[in-house]
Amino acid sequence: MSTTGPGIDVSPANDVDIGRMLDVEAVRADFPILSRKINDRPLVYLDNAATTQKPRQVIAALTNFYEQTNANVHRGVHTLSIEATDAYELARTKVAKFINAPRPETVIWTRNTSESLNLVAATWANAHVGEGDNIVITAMEHHSNIVPWQQLAARKNAELRYLAVGKDGLLDMANIESIIDSRTKIVSVTHVSNVLGTVNPVAELANRAHEVGAVILIDAAQSVPHMPVDVQAIDADFLCFSAHKMLGPTGIGVLYGKYDLLDEMPPYMYGGDMILEVTYEDATWNDLPYKFEAGTPNIADAIATGAAVDYLSELGMENVWEHEQQLTAYGMDQISSLNHITIFGPEDPALKGGVISFVHDKIHPHDLGTALDQQGIAIRTGHHCAMPLVRSYGVVAAARASFYVYNTKTEIDALVDGIRETERYFVR
Ligand code: PMP
Repeated sequence: MSTTGPGIDVSPANDVDIGRMLDVEAVRADFPILSRKINDRPLVYLDNAATTQKPRQVIAALTNFYEQTNANVHRGVHTLSIEATDAYELARTKVAKFINAPRPETVIWTRNTSESLNLVAATWANAHVGEGDNIVITAMEHHSNIVPWQQLAARKNAELRYLAVGKDGLLDMANIESIIDSRTKIVSVTHVSNVLGTVNPVAELANRAHEVGAVILIDAAQSVPHMPVDVQAIDADFLCFSAHKMLGPTGIGVLYGKYDLLDEMPPYMYGGDMILEVTYEDATWNDLPYKFEAGTPNIADAIATGAAVDYLSELGMENVWEHEQQLTAYGMDQISSLNHITIFGPEDPALKGGVISFVHDKIHPHDLGTALDQQGIAIRTGHHCAMPLVRSYGVVAAARASFYVYNTKTEIDALVDGIRETERYFVR
């Protein structure tokens, strides 16, 4: 990064050591939006847990598709349709390889993580959870991994159980044997908390779920974009994520599932493409993955997701993770050195992803977010779609800075300077 703006030193001096894993300057040059000014200041984008920016390679994949290939998939015999189908299926194969799924048919395109979670709740869980059974989630879930289970539990007269979160921001694993028991049908947990950054021991939870004959669904919305994730190593039964949080477009997400589970599940939506044969009386279902992809899919965005996966693979997910770990350690250090600040979640940066949520005891998060925006700095403020968790800290809103491949330590300095600058107006 070479730009400077009024009051903000964004020279790269501070970023020398993190240049080793990733060439951050080269990465930044791929993101057109990063040269924007916001309120006459260089954009410092620290809202990556909400959504990430897009490199020109992803934008080009979208443009190229619409300029050169646009056609519907799976149905045509003409060249464009064949090319569109090949590109759409190639993107699926790239995603499968990215998460080490054993076969591409186990990767289902959905709209986003929320739809993937709802799909499993409405199909597998609807068929398997009965009266007196239980569903286990954690106290640090996003609303999209709470509400579908509340609804299902109410419908089935089943129990919704929560694994607690300790004061240290870590999942309380002490009672997992009694919480995940013989009546547990599904354990649905976030891999990385979008509020606390906590990295949860999903392989251990999968192990316990399997011991009692339950399945595990992993909300990987905040892990797949940031660290190497291997669905077979974790032994995930289901795992889901959203492309827009990993440099890809909005409106497309993934549900991975073990082949045999997906194969025996009833469809989620009915319509074109998901059928094998239709009579006036009845219908039969297509093979995987098409059984779960009713209607014309989001072709262009799937292809652009393939481009995002290519981009991340080229960087190397180990490098992405290391880069974020360095930023998190630096960010924790710098933000906690300020007065009036309480940071939520694990203190040890090695236990968390690139998410730092905090409150300032003199400045409301929304005021802080607005004042930082005046200085070109984008952070998130509010309940982060995890109201019960945020409220458990005795607040209704928190500020959150979250990092990605293009962020630098200098930007964290800008954030810290921005908080200090805001204090001049609020702290007397
Ligand atoms: N789970 C987690 C952990 C998330 O961070 C998010 C997005 N903030 C979601 C689920 C929902 O993702 P989407 O809005 O893309 O469906």
